[in-house]
Amino acid sequence: MPHHQGFNSRAIHVGQEPDPTTGSTVPPLYLTSTYTQPSFGHHLGYEYGRNDNPTRDSFEQALASLELGQGAVAYASGMAASDAVLRILAPGDRVIAAEDLYGGVYRLLERVYRVQGIVTEYVDFRQPDVLEEAIKRIRPRIIWMESPSNPLLTVIDIAQVGAIVARWGGWLVVDNTFASPYNQNPLTLGADLVVHSTTKYIGGHSDVIGGAVVANDPDLLRHLRFIRNAAGGTLGPFEAWLTLRGLKTLGVRMERHAENAQRIAAFLASHQAVEKVYYPGTQGVLAARQMKTCGGMVSFVLKTAHSQDPLAVARSFFNRLKMFALAESLGGVESLAGHPATMTHAALPEPERERRGIVMSLVRLSVGIEDVADLIADLDQALDQASRV
Ligand SMILES: *Cc1c(COP(=O)(O)O)cnc(C)c1O
Repeated sequence: MPHHQGFNSRAIHVGQEPDPTTGSTVPPLYLTSTYTQPSFGHHLGYEYGRNDNPTRDSFEQALASLELGQGAVAYASGMAASDAVLRILAPGDRVIAAEDLYGGVYRLLERVYRVQGIVTEYVDFRQPDVLEEAIKRIRPRIIWMESPSNPLLTVIDIAQVGAIVARWGGWLVVDNTFASPYNQNPLTLGADLVVHSTTKYIGGHSDVIGGAVVANDPDLLRHLRFIRNAAGGTLGPFEAWLTLRGLKTLGVRMERHAENAQRIAAFLASHQAVEKVYYPGTQGVLAARQMKTCGGMVSFVLKTAHSQDPLAVARSFFNRLKMFALAESLGGVESLAGHPATMTHAALPEPERERRGIVMSLVRLSVGIEDVADLIADLDQALDQASRV
């Protein structure tokens, strides 16, 4: 795989050579469930659509190249990809996961895997001693983390975690959805498996659901392909085609997301109606060393007086936004604003939510690639109104 070319060149060309039969410059969309065998006992490498599809192959090759991995396996969603990884485990195996975990992965671990005898312990990955002690005690087969995390955008030192895992064994899984492969490649920092919800930055246009796992180890890749064929959570060809179209522009989009997010983080930090801003760019040298840009996500806490109900202030802010859409998800070209306490993190018990800083006045922005002056003007007018509730 030509990893030596630049990121944008790989995004546009790897796995996307002109079609040999027609010359089609863009990988064709192969809509077929099955493949005719030219003679008895011979096929052309493609048998049945659950396992084999050339459009999906193109997408997987491009993504593997962007993550500097040997192979990628695409699934119907980020959750199907996460589930395929966890199916490595057998009853009695243990998992250690970071506290600040995507809610859907938390639900999968607690409501699906725990009842099958696979128990997860949650640890603060910012504290390497605590993490190492937990790994020594529990001996997990899987260690699962994200960076930057959701919704507080905490940057975790992947190389440091990778070194600890290498000392004690187990597979390090990094969900790289929030950073995208443009900003960091966890396989080069000690991760064994990289998980993506390609629904987010990789697809990039809020029009397709998908997921993928990238790895170097041939046994892990074989396992992942086996699970996809055996359990059936495959990525459809049209979804693969759309996601590949999005992937081509990931580099230019991420640059613009990052530029806009940096401007917005600075604007929010100086606004009188804002209490606190969470942004990788304010977390010092680690973010600068680990990430190419600080990404497109910014979270912040609205300032509330003692006499004000934080939920009412948040509601007023969200209802007055015009360009930012109130919506779940992230990573699309359009700007979104979300309310973690009642949306993505509603399943957490309230005391636990408050302990983690996911307060009622917390706002999470997925900064899009619109003109940043318009985005700032939108936030400004909504903040002015909210502070008057
Ligand atoms: C969205 C998301 C997922 C789940 O992906 P789906 O495509 O929605 O199934 C997993 N991890 C993170 C960090 C996400 O943002």
